[in-house]
Amino acid sequence: MLKALKKLYNAIFLIKYKAHFVDDLPSELKPHLIYIEGRAGEEDFAKFLCPCGCNLPITLSTLSITKDSWKIKYNGLFKKNVTLIPSVNRLSGCQSHFFIREGRVFWCE
Ligand SMILES: [Zn+2]
Repeated sequence: MLKALKKLYNAIFLIKYKAHFVDDLPSELKPHLIYIEGRAGEEDFAKFLCPCGCNLPITLSTLSITKDSWKIKYNGLFKKNVTLIPSVNRLSGCQSHFFIREGRVFWCE
């Protein structure tokens, strides 16, 4: 699917990324899930497929002790909607730059 169409589809159908807690990050990822290693409040890593449609995995450190790490907040039904702070800015590959707020992707373009 073309990246622009993928973005449009996600926006129209209000596709949300949901938290999915795991003991170990999987190598095979399903779309629209943010795999979180650890527990809420004690996350080590987050991994998900790039929302642009390039289908490359993005792994973020969410260890609170490291400087360049992301913070995760949860809200919504069963606290499954994820907010990632700060934005994700891919400097290689598709070079996507986006926020995930309450499970929704907001593009910075
Ligand atoms: Zn991408």
